[in-house]
Amino acid sequence: VRIGILGGGQLARMLVLAGVPLGIQFRVWDPKKDASAGQIAEQLTAEFSDPQAIKQFVSGLDFVTYEWENVPAKLAETIAQEVPAFFPPHSALKIVQDRFTQKEFFKKNKIETADFSAIESLDDLKNATAKMGLPALLKTRTEGYDGKGQVLIRKTSEIEAASKKLFGKKQILEKFISFDRELSLVAVRSKNGQTAFYPLVENLHQEGILRTTLAPAASTKRLQAQAEKVARLLFKELNYVGVLTIEFFQQGSKLLANEIATRVHNSGHWTIDGAETSQFENHLRAGIGAALGSTRVIKPTAMINLIGNLPDQLLSENGIHLHLYGKTPAPGRKLGHINILGKSLKDLQARVKKLRGKLAV
Ligand code: AMP
Repeated sequence: VRIGILGGGQLARMLVLAGVPLGIQFRVWDPKKDASAGQIAEQLTAEFSDPQAIKQFVSGLDFVTYEWENVPAKLAETIAQEVPAFFPPHSALKIVQDRFTQKEFFKKNKIETADFSAIESLDDLKNATAKMGLPALLKTRTEGYDGKGQVLIRKTSEIEAASKKLFGKKQILEKFISFDRELSLVAVRSKNGQTAFYPLVENLHQEGILRTTLAPAASTKRLQAQAEKVARLLFKELNYVGVLTIEFFQQGSKLLANEIATRVHNSGHWTIDGAETSQFENHLRAGIGAALGSTRVIKPTAMINLIGNLPDQLLSENGIHLHLYGKTPAPGRKLGHINILGKSLKDLQARVKKLRGKLAV
């Protein structure tokens, strides 16, 4: 089996690492010469706008998937026509690439989410904030990630500055949610309709970047069923194949969908060591129509992202599973992660606290 991956970052790298033992061969497409996945798989180095590159990329491939959600929708559609199978569906990609169409899609399907409004001018913003109330978040509709392209508006006097900051970009205003916790669900649906769900996990962010995931999240008995219901609905509406991630805000007994990712996700990295089958392996199994692997949790697991620089002597820590992405350190850059398995959630929380201090992450 030969699978092509659009984008050659760490997600592609971890897909390759999961697929090689299954006998899968990979080709990744990334414009950057030193792409993380290109270090361990065949790479096509070309701009995504290069029409000649498409033929070269698809040649001999059985399946194509993607790790980068900003793959131009038109390119995804063209490639989907050139290969036997493309997953997750490019139509789903198109919906989630724009925060506004994504939220409209939630609304249409009665999935609870924060109030939102499309913004095209300063007047729009003034009207929307008056109607919605403050605080609110102004975000770019496309290409925002890790908290980039977002401005918090706390009071009326901050409206103009926020508008200026994102000037020239299509925007969406969202009501600021004071949530109890951020949770996410990694779910997977196979080509043959089989589904599987990992437990809800708790995500801790700083400056809009995911720092730590605790898996499973504590006390989620009722919430798990709610979250899976949303995933099933999305699977059906999107005619979905592959891993799908839903980020939620928890408010009491309620879950509000923040956003979905039609791909493997940072909050699922714990599954490499903490679950019987990783999200990466299950994504591939789903796409090629194999039976899905068990999502059973082996032990409570914490994932800590290594951001900006790499602490020394990580491997000398007992019981740490280290995953490096082969990237050059830069401020705010995700360079790798560690997974730690604990006897219990409590034991794990204590270890994470100690480690975070020690690692200064
Ligand atoms: P996003 O890029 O939309 O996932 O946002 C990154 C992070 O910003 C989220 O994980 C939250 O911590 C925070 N955030 C985003 N949207 C909201 C919101 N409507 N209310 C409160 N916090 C938010």
